[in-house]
Amino acid sequence: MTIADHLQQVQERIADACARARRNASEITLVAVSKTHPPEVILEAVKAGLQHFGENRVEEASIKIPQVMSQTDTTLRWHMIGHIQSRKAKLIPPLFDVVHSVDDVKLAERLSASAVETGKTLDVLLQFNVSGEETKSGFHAVNWEKDAAIREQVWRNCQQILQLPGLKVRGLMTMAPIVEDMEQARHVSASLAALRSALSESLKIALPDLSMGMTDDYPVAIEEGATLIRVGRAIFGERL
Ligand SMILES: *Cc1c(COP(=O)(O)O)cnc(C)c1O
Repeated sequence: MTIADHLQQVQERIADACARARRNASEITLVAVSKTHPPEVILEAVKAGLQHFGENRVEEASIKIPQVMSQTDTTLRWHMIGHIQSRKAKLIPPLFDVVHSVDDVKLAERLSASAVETGKTLDVLLQFNVSGEETKSGFHAVNWEKDAAIREQVWRNCQQILQLPGLKVRGLMTMAPIVEDMEQARHVSASLAALRSALSESLKIALPDLSMGMTDDYPVAIEEGATLIRVGRAIFGERL
């Protein structure tokens, strides 16, 4: 199967999930996670109609993104979805349009400073760990509904980041645990959606975006309100 065939299947599943949730498919942005795949493969995906790409490593992206951009006239948007070490923050604004993985106030400060230096405002999402898996990064927000101390910490972190001049906070992001049955990941998406509503209400800010859902659980994430889904294997096949 070609990338175009895979993409068609994904788009059909997106349409089905939207129909179940009574949402419009235009509310969902499909971010094709191209990590590990070479520029030729990304260019094939551009030909198939994809415009949003997600990468998770700064070094890899800093080589691939210019290579892809030099070979297409299509306007593409690049999404940083992986953990960023603070010292590499200055490399991000020139390369990426959106950062999904802001998981630390100090990182946010450095990203803001380099965005200002580059003369742009960077769209960002705040990453939360709502599942409790230790391997997942993100601001700790397990049990935020019940634990006032966690809520206070989360609110404080958000307020600090909202003041940074180089960043525009667009919403929240999370990673669900790897599960056999996507229903087992539903509570993670639901919890992030509820956290978005609570934050948006108490801080009086619009947080339009929810980045959640990967190959194994994007239909459920869409049912729970995802606006950005990050899909790798279902489009590109197994990673190299
Ligand atoms: C790799 C990755 C994805 C995509 O995973 P698939 O299972 O290939 O769809 C999504 N989000 C993040 C943060 C990733 O690192």
